[in-house]
Amino acid sequence: MSTVVTGSASGIGAAVRKRFEHDGDTVIGIDIRDAEIIADLSTREGREAAIAGVKRRGLTIDRFVACAGLATDTRPPSLIASVNYFGTVDLLDGLFEELQQGSSPCAVLVLSNSMQWLQLDGSPFMQALLQHDEHGAAEIVDQMPDAFFAASLAYVGSKLALGRAVRKRASVWGKAGVRLNGIAPGNTKTPMLQRILEDPNTRDGVANMEIPLGRLADPAEIAGLVAFLCGAESSYIHGSIIYIDGGIDATVCPDSI
Ligand code: NAD
Repeated sequence: MSTVVTGSASGIGAAVRKRFEHDGDTVIGIDIRDAEIIADLSTREGREAAIAGVKRRGLTIDRFVACAGLATDTRPPSLIASVNYFGTVDLLDGLFEELQQGSSPCAVLVLSNSMQWLQLDGSPFMQALLQHDEHGAAEIVDQMPDAFFAASLAYVGSKLALGRAVRKRASVWGKAGVRLNGIAPGNTKTPMLQRILEDPNTRDGVANMEIPLGRLADPAEIAGLVAFLCGAESSYIHGSIIYIDGGIDATVCPDSI
């Protein structure tokens, strides 16, 4: 089996790489550093180079796992939308044809358990994302006077839009035989979380968050869910978003289902 993993150099992506290599897969990592394919997913050229790099290898691609992402400490805020949303969706769609040739093919996108914590439906930013208007989305968040609020909007909106991207593709992808799902992790011990815990804007909120299971996630636990979603035992799971957050979202939004 061959698996393409974005964000493979660090955190959850590195754990996914380790898990799949342990299970005998060939992993093609895509990252801005330390990967088989070095590409900047914040730019259209970088995404095209990444897709071309995968195709040039001439392998059958069986799985695509999108982990690359930036957090709310990123400036300008539009970079968050460019990597987390546009970078992910452009690669997903760019590899659709390749995946259709794979064996029991599937794709998993890494979202976030925070994706429903702001009311964004109908907002100009969400509309720009859903219309795939990268320039318009960037203008909205980069012109906001409060850069931290703008970064939070960019992060949460991008993850919510990725969830929508999964659901909107369920019909076409399912009929093409490619399963597509999203996972929504909570606070996971990675360099990204470390940065969030050092940022005065987010430090206290994240440190004081109630986690019903009483601990952070280990990246290997997230990789375990990805492996399950790519395996035979999840053969009827498609178009779904699965939370893996120790119960955090259930305490923040107990009525949202
Ligand atoms: P991380 O910072 O450890 O890893 C992110 C990876 O993305 C890095 O290897 C980085 O180089 C890569 N990346 C960043 N910008 C890139 C670009 N322009 N082009 C190519 N690659 C780029 O973060 P992580 O915690 O492992 O996060 C992985 C995913 O999980 C992200 O999408 C994040 O939003 C999501 N997530 C993380 C947590 C958490 O608590 N760690 C919680 C919820 C969701």
